[in-house]
Parts: sequence; structure tokens; C-alpha cells
Amino acid sequence: MRHLDVYRDPRAVKRLVAAVRRATTRPWTIMEICGGQTHSIARYGLEDLIGEDITLVHGPGCPVCVTPLEVLEKARRLALQPDVVLHTYGDMLRVPGVHGDLLDARARGADVRIVLSALDAVRAAARDPARHHVFFAVGFETTAPATAMAIEHAAQLGLDRFSVLASHVRVPPAMEAILSDPDGRVDGFLAAGHVCTIEGDADYHELAARFSAPIVITGFEPLDIVRGLLACVRQLEAGQHEVDNAYPRAVRPEGNPVARAALRRVFSPADVPWRGLGVLPRGGLRIRPEYAPFDAELRFPMSLDPIEEPKACRANEVLRGLLAPLDCPELGRGCTPEHPLGAPMVSTEGACAAYYRYRRMA
Ligand code: SF4
Repeated sequence: MRHLDVYRDPRAVKRLVAAVRRATTRPWTIMEICGGQTHSIARYGLEDLIGEDITLVHGPGCPVCVTPLEVLEKARRLALQPDVVLHTYGDMLRVPGVHGDLLDARARGADVRIVLSALDAVRAAARDPARHHVFFAVGFETTAPATAMAIEHAAQLGLDRFSVLASHVRVPPAMEAILSDPDGRVDGFLAAGHVCTIEGDADYHELAARFSAPIVITGFEPLDIVRGLLACVRQLEAGQHEVDNAYPRAVRPEGNPVARAALRRVFSPADVPWRGLGVLPRGGLRIRPEYAPFDAELRFPMSLDPIEEPKACRANEVLRGLLAPLDCPELGRGCTPEHPLGAPMVSTEGACAAYYRYRRMA
């Protein structure tokens, strides 16, 4: 038996689902933040199992999906500059921008490379000092520490032709925005377990208390998710609104001190735009002035006007939990993984891709 099989055991899942149904006396709407959780929910059909009283809505927890169009366009323009090599994660190559994606840029001669880690980009820069290497960094608090360590490593190596186009975002401000949304309808959250492995639970206590919304830190396997739902429903039914850790095998209250320290040495919180949510106060991370030589925004300044989202795509509503992917008229018609209209269909963590893959075909 593989380690993960324990958390996918259908009998254990059904037992917990029965407990959720017994605990539920009225309708509740619960949002899972992370796209990895969304994929598990769709893949294992948890929405159908859990019953009609609980509505699961899907949050903005997909780093590819929330990267603003302006940043995508900056990355594309940077890649097209002579003597620039752009490194990024594989998911970013097919995200449609206003003037095409990074694959199009590659077809026009840009040197765009897929890396598995930020350090791969640093190594490439060390091997090839004649050209400027830019790492296009996206992701939440989970990937930001690795970017921070890559910048520190580049500084130690004295690489003066390496920089980072950083588009890292922080999850708690997005949860705050969703809870503050007058159109919102979220009663409780399943928080993203991997973000909490880094940051712990400190940010969530004030949020849970201020908005009277339970926040349950949850993993990614079906058993983890149903366990998180049970903890959330029990709190909602009891009128409680606390932070609960349903993922103790990975998350400690204090998070990962080494990763947090790296993150804070290199980045500071900043007001940044999220695709679909607008500018969120302290919603992202900017490279600190001490590391300015490694900040691609400063080395390659560009001023771009705000770029409008494609009209046919309703990703803005999907990312705020206001529209279920199955209710988007374009899903599977004008919008498919081969010809995506919006980022949630491109990314492996995108909610629309999850529903296209697991639910539309069912
Ligand atoms: S299915 Fe496609 S068009 Fe519809 S919201 Fe999702 S990404 Fe946009």
C-alpha cells in the first residue's frame, strides 16, 4: 500500500461523509481556497457525495490563474528582448495574454525555458554570464521561499545578469477580500494546507474572529478534504468561528521557520493586483530594496496600461466563488484545455480545468 492510499480509502471517506451529513442541519457554503483541493473535489466526486445541503465553492488558489495580464505581458515582452533568457514554470507558457502567450514568444525566437525550481534559473545564469537570465516567479507563500533562496544564492555568486520578475501573492488578504465581498456567500473556509506549512496559522485567527467564519486548515487528499469539511460544519452548526488544523501531519502552528525567515529577508508585503480580485492590500510580495539589482521590474522598467479581461471569459467570477465552472457557457465549447479562453482552464490547478477534466466528461 502506498502512503497516500490511506487518505484515498473509499470506505474511510464514506464514513466521514456520513458524519458530515449527520452533522448538517441546514445549508452552508464552504470555500476551499486551493486549486489542488478543487481538483481532488472534482476528481473524487466529493460534491455529489457530500449532499445538497453543503455547497462547495472554489477559491482563487491557483497561482497561474491569479497572475495579472499586465505581468504576463511584461514577461512576454522581456522574453522577446535580445540577450534575455526567460525561465519559468511549465504552466505559465500557455496562459493566454493579450498579445499571445509565452509559447508564441518562443515561436518568434524568444529563449523561454521551463524550470522545475528557481535554483535551475540561477544555475543557468551562472553557466551563461553573457546573457541576462530572468526568472518569472509566480505562486503563493509556498513557492516564494524558494524564489527568496534563489535570489540570495545569486547574490552570493555575484551574478549581475540574473533577476526575478516576481508575482508572488499572499493568501490571507484574498480570503479577507472574499469575506468582505457584498456579493459573497462564504460561511467557512478550508484553508490551503501547503501555504500553512510555511506560514502556520497566525494570520487566520483574526480573520476567523472578525468575519465570524471558521477556517479549517486542510490537506489535499479526499480524506483530508472531508475531514476539513466535517470540522468546518461542526463549527458552523455550533456557531463557532475558530481556526482548526485538520492537516496536523504537515502543518505546525508556527509553520516552517527556515522558509519564513528566507521569505522575510528577501520580500516584504505589498499592495498588488490579483487577477479577478483587483488590488489587495498586502496581497503580494515585493523584492526588498537590499535586493534591488535582482528585481526585474527595476532592471527592465515598463509602464503598461491596465489590460481588460477577455469579455467571453468569466474567470473573475469563478475566482471569487461567485460562478461555478459548470455554469460558464464557454466551458467545453469555446473554452477547452487545447484552446483556453482564460487562465483557470490553462493551469493544472485551475477550477475550470478540473471541471472540464472530471465533471463535464462524466
Ligand atoms: S470555462 Fe473558460 S471561459 Fe469560462 S470562466 Fe473558465 S476559463 Fe473562462
